[in-house]
Amino acid sequence: MLETEEISKVAMEQPALAPKAFIHQKFGSKALYRIEEIKQPIETSCSGLPFAQNVQCLYICHLDLPELSVRSDPFPRKKDAEHAAAKMAIEKLGLQSKPNNLTPQEALGELVGRLNGFFTDEFLFSIHPLAGHIKVALRRADDHVGMIPISIVAGCDVKVNNLCKVLNPKAASDPLLVVSLIIRAAQMSTAILICNERWICKQGSYPAGFSQSVKNLAVVSAENMHVKALFIPLSCDKVVETLTLNFSESQYYMEEIARKLHSADSSHIVVSRTVGKAASEMRLYFSAPGVPDRTSDNVERNVNLDMSLNERASYLCGQNVYGDAIMANIGYTWKSTDLFYEDISLSSYYRLILGKLPDGNYKLSRGAILAAELPTMYTIRSNWRGPTPRELLCAFCRQHQLAEPLFSIKSLDGAEIAREHCEFKIMSKSERPYIDVKVNGSKSDLHRIEFDRATSTFRCEVKIISKKRFPLVLIKCSFDDTHRKESDAVQSAALKVLSWLNMYSRQPDIPMESLLEFAHADNIIVSSKDLLSELSTCSSAYDTKMRKNFSLVSSCTARHRAVCDKGMVLCKIDGPDSGIFATPGSVASISYAVVLMKADSSLKEVLESNDEFEFEMGVGAVINELESCVSQLTVNQSAQFIVELPSRDLILSAAGPSAKFISQSSLHDCFLEFSVKLLQVMDPLEDRIEQALFSPPLSKQRLEFAVERINELHATSLVDFGCGSGCLLDSLLDHTTTLEKIAGVDISRKSLMRAAKVLHLKLSTTPIRKSIRSAVLYDGSITNFDSRLHEFDIATCLEVIEHMEEDQACLFGDIVLSLFCPIVLIVSTPNYEYNPILQRSSVLPSREYSEDKAASVRFRNHDHKFEWTREQFQLWANNLAERHHYSVEFSGVGGSGDMEPGFASQIAVFKRASNQLEKPYLGTEIPYEVIWEWNNGSIYNC
Ligand code: SAH
Ligand code: MG
Repeated sequence: MLETEEISKVAMEQPALAPKAFIHQKFGSKALYRIEEIKQPIETSCSGLPFAQNVQCLYICHLDLPELSVRSDPFPRKKDAEHAAAKMAIEKLGLQSKPNNLTPQEALGELVGRLNGFFTDEFLFSIHPLAGHIKVALRRADDHVGMIPISIVAGCDVKVNNLCKVLNPKAASDPLLVVSLIIRAAQMSTAILICNERWICKQGSYPAGFSQSVKNLAVVSAENMHVKALFIPLSCDKVVETLTLNFSESQYYMEEIARKLHSADSSHIVVSRTVGKAASEMRLYFSAPGVPDRTSDNVERNVNLDMSLNERASYLCGQNVYGDAIMANIGYTWKSTDLFYEDISLSSYYRLILGKLPDGNYKLSRGAILAAELPTMYTIRSNWRGPTPRELLCAFCRQHQLAEPLFSIKSLDGAEIAREHCEFKIMSKSERPYIDVKVNGSKSDLHRIEFDRATSTFRCEVKIISKKRFPLVLIKCSFDDTHRKESDAVQSAALKVLSWLNMYSRQPDIPMESLLEFAHADNIIVSSKDLLSELSTCSSAYDTKMRKNFSLVSSCTARHRAVCDKGMVLCKIDGPDSGIFATPGSVASISYAVVLMKADSSLKEVLESNDEFEFEMGVGAVINELESCVSQLTVNQSAQFIVELPSRDLILSAAGPSAKFISQSSLHDCFLEFSVKLLQVMDPLEDRIEQALFSPPLSKQRLEFAVERINELHATSLVDFGCGSGCLLDSLLDHTTTLEKIAGVDISRKSLMRAAKVLHLKLSTTPIRKSIRSAVLYDGSITNFDSRLHEFDIATCLEVIEHMEEDQACLFGDIVLSLFCPIVLIVSTPNYEYNPILQRSSVLPSREYSEDKAASVRFRNHDHKFEWTREQFQLWANNLAERHHYSVEFSGVGGSGDMEPGFASQIAVFKRASNQLEKPYLGTEIPYEVIWEWNNGSIYNC
């Protein structure tokens, strides 16, 4: 389906990861870097300023991973310290960023070396998890002193696994094959002994006193330990159950697992890779079906083996698991030499399964398994409290052993780059605006992209590629919609892919052709045969079996869709009508509970409840029945409604402690009852309504308004009071104006940092704007006077005063006109009378205005302290002007000043009466703190 040319291009794009990028890919936000600064005096440099007290600053990086913590050496640059720490962690954990570079011969050599390392004397004192196994083995009283099961070696060391994968790619999904590869390598070593093809140990004994001291190291307590684990029977007809492992500290826990699996001893037990979150020791254990065949690389499994494939367990860990299996969260870790163990509940098993579905992690992260659904649209609203669509898609690919998705971003001028794992470098002093993009670790050239940030829009293309048959493209999507921000383009694209995968996974009965049609309509190209085989091999089930596994929640979505098509769900509503509805685009805050009920009321279990759950209306962020019900409620009303039972597995993943009981009862004649209360409705964000209603958006119109005044006045200096993230200043730089000096003031440091970044980028990449000589950002309150901003030509204060208390707004007015004294001051603020139009428009776009609606009108933004009518605003402005010898005129943007209810955003333009100030101001107040400063001259002078 996809041409070969396409494929080879992808191969080129595959970047080799730098240590930090690799750690990021593996651990994401769980990798915590902490920089420690150490000061150290150094000798005066040769330039030798006599009084230079030179202190060199060095940095040490501490990297905390779920599994391990490391500390780098000191470096003069923070970045180097971070890289060094990342590199150390990768080495310690045996993770390799490029295992494919080895030839099988080299890999075998490395494997032998790695194994040898495990059976040296010093190794016993290392923090490697295997050391824990060997130490407990040395305490054995039977013939197997010092011996550990071979499969535990593979289970505990990532590097061993990676090397085995080079020897035989099938090893990734077959722990039995790994065992036979280890045997082969161990037999090439004289330092290691293999016993009965199941045990592995040091050839010869540890020095006598030495092993005694190791024995003494362990505090042997008589206390018994109990760990809850799960039994996953081979037959899918039997339910998964909890079981308890009992052992004492002096006993090897693997022996207890062997006992529970009716195996002779721990050497017959095979261990899977870990499943679930990064630091988990959750693994699957099963009895080895016969002695592994070590003579052939290409181990052909016989029919019997296929018959005994444990589908549920295999699907969970993505490796072949045979026969009955036990899932337990137990083992030695990098973090401590003590044995780590934790109970596993039945519902955590079902949550793991749910987490493998394209939308599963979304539901889990929202803490709303039965209520939440993957939204159809990416907005920055409360639907994405947890992982973003991109993170969800990456997690899905990782879980299904696919390569990390590749996102390429196209900007308006067509420059295209693979952004994944790229490092940006912004160049200053350039002739033309450009950015150099360096692909980490690769020796290839820098990609140079010339671009203009202000006018760029972005498009994103996503590719999902096979890891096993790299670079085979399984899914490729290019979307037509454009976004102003790159990250929005990426998120939207990721969401579309997720949504399609979700449909694919949930409706196994839909013929492939229709799914492909859906995909095609969305510009998604799917190599269906390859995708199917890829997703199936990872669970080792074949063809449609995979899709059956994959579709644990199938019936319920199809049903939700049907209900939606039919219209509103019937619900019983309680409470008086408060008149406040949750309209599309607004954020509804609800409390709800879901109860599992039996028709004869013999069963009543609360499965899920949330005291406060927020979601955006109109984007499918919750099941249709719930959204339909909430749309019929007004604030403070509550309701109940009933839905058919979703799949059993979904119920069990929501059930928590009652999962055990529910899994044993029949769910015949059961249904779910939802009780919902609408607590609060938050309006659609101000700028989103404005964007939808006004073209160009109001902020742009305010900017144009300001530019006109600047040009009228031939202003050379401008200060923006309450500049926020610097939108106005940034956009001003795109216009040709007479301005030479610009400044911004705000009390939000966070906004100021953003403003600094944006302005810095623009000023340093775009030297066309010759007229600008200086730009400064100040942290300070505009109700304080700072003499550095005295007598600027023009001052703006756009959509700021309503964020202050009314008396502060008045104070600002007095201060600005009596002390800052700009020639022109432009103040804008929302016109409260216009709100009904904005708010009603979120239901139906209509520009009519009616008086009676004004009663329940709310403010546009929750941070607004007030919103004034035209009369209130004019009163404030007229009084102010009069007191300070300014004239004032009123105008506005959005709508029309001649028609009711006036402009959407009202503007007052104050003009100083005399051009010459009576007495020049001589004060020296400087309460503002300079956050960032840019001087045209200094860049070239220094
Ligand atoms: N002028 C910008 C931002 C408007 S939002 C625009 O049009 O997009 C309002 C801004 O006013 C916020 O950034 C807030 O931090 C700032 N602000 C509120 N009170 C302030 C005060 N007393 N001094 C300075 N800035 C203030
Ligand atoms: Mg505002």
